[in-house]
Amino acid sequence: MENKKEMRTWLDDLNLNHPLVIAGPCSAETEEQVLKIAHELKNTDVSYFRAGIWKPRTRPGMFEGVGALGLKWLQKVKAETGMKTCTEVANAAHVKLALEHDVDLLWIGARSTVSPFIMQEIADALQGTDKPVLIKNPVNPDLALWLGGIERIYKAGVKNIGAIHRGFSTYEKTKYRNTPEWQLAIEFQNKYPDIPLINDPSHITGKRDMIFDVSQTALDLNFDGLMIETHYDPENAWSDAAQQVTPSTLIQIMKDLKIRKESD
Ligand code: PEP
Ligand code: MN
Repeated sequence: MENKKEMRTWLDDLNLNHPLVIAGPCSAETEEQVLKIAHELKNTDVSYFRAGIWKPRTRPGMFEGVGALGLKWLQKVKAETGMKTCTEVANAAHVKLALEHDVDLLWIGARSTVSPFIMQEIADALQGTDKPVLIKNPVNPDLALWLGGIERIYKAGVKNIGAIHRGFSTYEKTKYRNTPEWQLAIEFQNKYPDIPLINDPSHITGKRDMIFDVSQTALDLNFDGLMIETHYDPENAWSDAAQQVTPSTLIQIMKDLKIRKESD
């Protein structure tokens, strides 16, 4: 795969003077929950509102998302707050529905990037879209598999691309939910400096009190942005309760983070 400046057009066109921030709940739960969080995030530095509607849960029997119904709620978010919206797609049917409902940006989750067949299916469904598509790293620390997934999407004519570093699972217990393996992210940046790289401290840490430090490390490493799970009642969230922060905590985090300037 070539390293092409055109891949970051979607980000450059936002003309931000700070790192990109994507925020919103892990899962869309109810229309009221989605809209309440979105209203608390409007008029902040958040550019994209996230909410998972198809949730890839590790074990069956847990909340697996509200499904296509959530697309209508994301449309309301856009109409009421002016924020752009994004959600995870994990198969061709999701892509079709998300594009039909004008979701502004799609991301591919770590459990999908790991499978070349599913990545090809998603790539075929995305064929030629001008929406930005962000590809999370696979669950295992395999740079080639991550790049291969990105390459499949790019070869399908998707020019607006980004990558999300969400950490890697390990058998050993560590303080992280998914260890960052920063060296791998640095290798990614060195190989593809023009692919925007977004950090996801929520899934790396699994704990809200570690979000700030991981975010700061990512910005010190020149990441292009952050995706942070945000909920007005994190303790009672239907998924990933331990790692979500409230909108006011997110605003404080964004204020406190030191942004590295080109001249530093
Ligand atoms: C998510 O963003 O809510 C999610 C399921 O993330 P990941 O694919 O990184 O586990
Ligand atoms: Mn989550």
